[in-house]
Amino acid sequence: TVVTRFAPSPTGFLHIGGARTALFNWLFAKSLGGKMLLRIEDTDRARSTEEAIAAILDGLTWLGLDWDGEPIFQFARAARHREAVEQMLAAGRAYRCYATAQELEEMRSLAQAEGRPPRYDGRWRDRPESDAPAGRPSAIRLRAPTEGETVVDDLVQGRVVIPNKDLDDLVLLRSDGTPTYMLAVVVDDHDMGVTHVIRGVDHLTNAARQTQIYEALGWAVPKMAHIPLIHGPDGAKLSKRHGALGAEAYRELGFLPSALRNYLARLGWSHGDDEIFSTEQAIEWFDIRDVGRSAARFDMAKLSNLNGHYMRSTPDDELLATLKASLPYLPGGPEAARRLDETGRWPALATALPGLKERAKTLVELIDGARFLIDSRPLALEPAAEALLTDDARALLAKLADRLEEITDWSASAAEDAVRALAEEAGVKLGALAQPLRAALTGRKTSPGIFDVLVALGREESLGRIRDQAL
Ligand code: GLU
Repeated sequence: TVVTRFAPSPTGFLHIGGARTALFNWLFAKSLGGKMLLRIEDTDRARSTEEAIAAILDGLTWLGLDWDGEPIFQFARAARHREAVEQMLAAGRAYRCYATAQELEEMRSLAQAEGRPPRYDGRWRDRPESDAPAGRPSAIRLRAPTEGETVVDDLVQGRVVIPNKDLDDLVLLRSDGTPTYMLAVVVDDHDMGVTHVIRGVDHLTNAARQTQIYEALGWAVPKMAHIPLIHGPDGAKLSKRHGALGAEAYRELGFLPSALRNYLARLGWSHGDDEIFSTEQAIEWFDIRDVGRSAARFDMAKLSNLNGHYMRSTPDDELLATLKASLPYLPGGPEAARRLDETGRWPALATALPGLKERAKTLVELIDGARFLIDSRPLALEPAAEALLTDDARALLAKLADRLEEITDWSASAAEDAVRALAEEAGVKLGALAQPLRAALTGRKTSPGIFDVLVALGREESLGRIRDQAL
């Protein structure tokens, strides 16, 4: 059965490229009834933090990308990594290297002077152990093949051939006994039973070196798929400006995990012309061979539009539940929740939701549109709303309040009848009354349908707000 893994380094948050890599691993595993494992690559002790680990787990959970079993921590497996090196030493596939830091530095400057990439010159490759300088610690290097070529048969990049003369004898174990990243990845993937390595194309050159380590250990090389990187809409490398944010930032921006999943799936993978699909469909359709080689472009505006679509097509009760669960993470959200609790206007929000969700692309915009339900009297008016409240308009509002007071069944249609009747009697267009009414009720120039607003606010609050502005 298929086993994939997502292997983030916990040196920062789960960024958007990492989230997409996790999603592809997850979709691939799910589509084939396999498993996705999670490995935290925390060997860089100086840069790995508990905070980053928590953020990565939280980001994956929020995105609905679950992993199988407990996360594996790479650093804790150092003894096992050393054991694998012992195995290679015993088989003659690795050797001790006593080159000093100064010697290595000389090799580097020589390479620089000759304008070629630095490489270890193999000076300890064939020297007998009896030459070992007494008391000097050694690194352990792979005895890499010097002839022929190393081939990576990549499911996305195709057949990648690297002449072995271009790959030097890489360090497996540093002289302080710590395993290198290159070694740890191979040993862990093997021990975890990983059948498919799906990761960013920036790891493609590592793939060749890792293939050499697999061969030295006599282990089967997993299938590999190196997926294209994500660029900004202008084709440049993805930056903060483009949306290279952590997953938690997308939550704070008010995106729905379902929409983000859909959007990320389309970054590099496609299923015909389908733009909008459910996660179930993505699982059914996902095929790693449909992942292209050119860089995907991340476009915040497209993501927003897709998110708006998801919000509109989410049933109201479900959307309200999502909003409630998301408020703690949205700017001003906790305060909004507290006020809705205090004023008991959650039901009003539920009533207004169909109108609100038509005008919002994100949960943040949704909450902004619901400001009139969250804020209390006396309502602060936007300047554009204030401008609508001329003396004439305020006089009309006073009359309107009297009329509305007479309504016995507080409904959108009864309110509409009253507003229309008054506009006619006063000889003004409906807008000349409805616009000031909107300003008084919401403090804004735009809002959901004004009669729906009257219903959502209820009789007492509506009349209060109108009288606050009436002459
Ligand atoms: N830890 C590596 C990273 O975060 C991934 C290594 C791998 O997938 O093999 O880029």
